[in-house]
Amino acid sequence: MEDPGLVPVSALPGVGPSLRASLAKLGLSTLQDLWFHLPLRYEDRTRVVSIADLRPGDAAQVEGVVDAVERSFRGRPQLRVALSDDSQQTLVLRFFHFRGAQVDQLQPGTRLRCYGEIRRGANSLEIVHPQYQRLVSDEPGAVEENLSPVYPTTEGLGYKRLAGLIQKALERLPREEQLELIPSALRRDLHLLSLRQALLYVHRPPPDAEVGRLALGAHPAQQRLAFEELLSHHLSLKQLRRDVRRHSAPSLKGDGRLRRRFTAGLPYQLTGAQRRVSAEVAADLAALEPMLRLVQGDVGSGKTVIAALAALTAVEAGYQVALVAPTELLAEQHLRNFRAWLEPLGIEVVWLAGKVQGKNRAAALAAVAGGASITIGTHALMQEGVAFSQLGLVIIDEQHRFGVHQRLSLRDKGRTGDRVPHQLVLTATPIPRTLAMTAYADLDVSVVDELPPGRTPVTTVAISNARRDEVIARIRAACVEGRQAYWVCTLIEESEQLQAQAAEVAHVELCNVLAGIPVGLVHGRMKPKEKSAVMDAFKSGELKVLVATTVIEVGVDVPNASLMVIENAERLGLAQLHQLRGRVGRGSVVSSCVLLYQPPLSQMAKARLNVLRETNDGFRIAEKDLELRGPGEMLGTRQTGRLEFRIADIQRDSALLPLVQEIGERLLAENPPLAERLVARWVGAAARYAAA
Ligand code: ADP
Ligand code: MG
Repeated sequence: MEDPGLVPVSALPGVGPSLRASLAKLGLSTLQDLWFHLPLRYEDRTRVVSIADLRPGDAAQVEGVVDAVERSFRGRPQLRVALSDDSQQTLVLRFFHFRGAQVDQLQPGTRLRCYGEIRRGANSLEIVHPQYQRLVSDEPGAVEENLSPVYPTTEGLGYKRLAGLIQKALERLPREEQLELIPSALRRDLHLLSLRQALLYVHRPPPDAEVGRLALGAHPAQQRLAFEELLSHHLSLKQLRRDVRRHSAPSLKGDGRLRRRFTAGLPYQLTGAQRRVSAEVAADLAALEPMLRLVQGDVGSGKTVIAALAALTAVEAGYQVALVAPTELLAEQHLRNFRAWLEPLGIEVVWLAGKVQGKNRAAALAAVAGGASITIGTHALMQEGVAFSQLGLVIIDEQHRFGVHQRLSLRDKGRTGDRVPHQLVLTATPIPRTLAMTAYADLDVSVVDELPPGRTPVTTVAISNARRDEVIARIRAACVEGRQAYWVCTLIEESEQLQAQAAEVAHVELCNVLAGIPVGLVHGRMKPKEKSAVMDAFKSGELKVLVATTVIEVGVDVPNASLMVIENAERLGLAQLHQLRGRVGRGSVVSSCVLLYQPPLSQMAKARLNVLRETNDGFRIAEKDLELRGPGEMLGTRQTGRLEFRIADIQRDSALLPLVQEIGERLLAENPPLAERLVARWVGAAARYAAA
């Protein structure tokens, strides 16, 4: 039987191609999309408020008779209409944009019904640009039976038109038994409304509805909808995981021979957290089902060593490893580390990035196909034409930049029949636990919750760009003391070209004012060879100052660099600033980070920069970031396609998450077909994770 929710909007009367296109812009193509398109807010037109009872700040509906009309052209043209009602009080309607015809309609004696936000005017209360209609008879006009929903809309689609369509779609809402997917016993236990009740309520709340709660999204009807949506997303990730787990994987045990030599050669002891997480990874690798593990750890917590140990386990067992990073610079950093660590152990490390072309590429591909132990690269590794002979482990650094699809495509390079490689994902984006459980429900999570000893906390200050000279003087002083500094240029535009230009300009400026101090430049538009030459010169101390774009965000490691200046810091996200700052504080000297901002700073920007001044703890920062801006940006929603909710808001609804997890487990165990239907409804039958 056809799902009535999936009927196209064009089935509604009056929906032709152009309206359909406007709706599509809002992501509304089926009746169900209209059902789930919730109001942004509500207007109360269920009653008429006496002018005497109006309070500034409220939005209200008023009815009265025009007493006087006044047009003035001094300065800005304005129209003022004085309205009075039975309470003998006056309310002024004020217009700054109006047409002559409109003025003619508002002659004294006209009865008006109007709606708007009440403000305190010079001599009386007023409404600026009210919505209004003329009432022809003396009878009081009929009032609405429900609060009027105001929907998010798009250009070319009036809100009344959209509201009308949604009403029509709601008339086609199926009977409860047909619509409902949450079993009634469960609904009873959780005190949940039925889906039908909840939808009808949120689209047409009764006059006595708790408007405050509705505005916060905290009304039980809204929570009921958010719950179902969160549950469905959770189920879809769990299904993905289950589907992946249905495959088998090679049991990678190894004899520890390479790992022992590797750790013995390290100039330090592993931290407790590194040892614990490595053991968790080793246990997964030894199993016959594919590992799906996320290793989460703050910047500088030492995840690379954990990755190397995992890689060696696979190599000991005779399998190949692929390590992918999101940027060339980060991939190169890994390449350098791995070559330095592993070539002495006789292990071949192959480099495969997009820029590796021609003969070199052919040689790299041949090595990979011929069984080279470790291949490191960028997403070029995920492309067609790259074939492994015996891929046993895929390691992905900085997970949030890759989508689930990309991860699966790499995994499939190691697929033989039913057998797939293990997957290890590393991320420095600290995510609060509840969020992680939802965002990464398809992965097991290990947390590296300890930094290597001897780290010096970074002192952070925010300084206005008006004091740029002082900041530059500080760099000079640091360099004179033999220390090194980063100067990071940021832009909001994602254009690499503009970023590079900004960095070039800053480079010229610093070369001038820091005469005698060698200043280098690195940005994303440079050739890999040039980039690594500059990085090497900075690492060796030949260059004292490095001007860089955010390409240095991840992975760069120069312990002697103890000062970082971040330009336009107010424009960056907290997580990104924290990542950048993680480049300093890696040696034993006290490090500092200067957040250089363009004044004036908004309250919000001030609050955000303050968070960085107050703490170096990535998890605390992540929590604050979530409070201040919501989860979408933090998880890089755009890149992953995860966590795009229509109704739910992970932060607002975070209290629901434990319940979502609990019920999710139960449904998957007890009623898989139902879980499928929930996923189909909310995540889409197109199952973006198809072919898992
Ligand atoms: P991240 O987790 O950010 O990837 P890295 O793996 O790059 O961190 O490690 C950051 C720095 O810490 C590197 O310089 C690395 O050599 C060093 N390091 C890693 N583990 C330890 C340890 N157990 N003791 C001391 N230093 C360590
Ligand atoms: Mg790293």
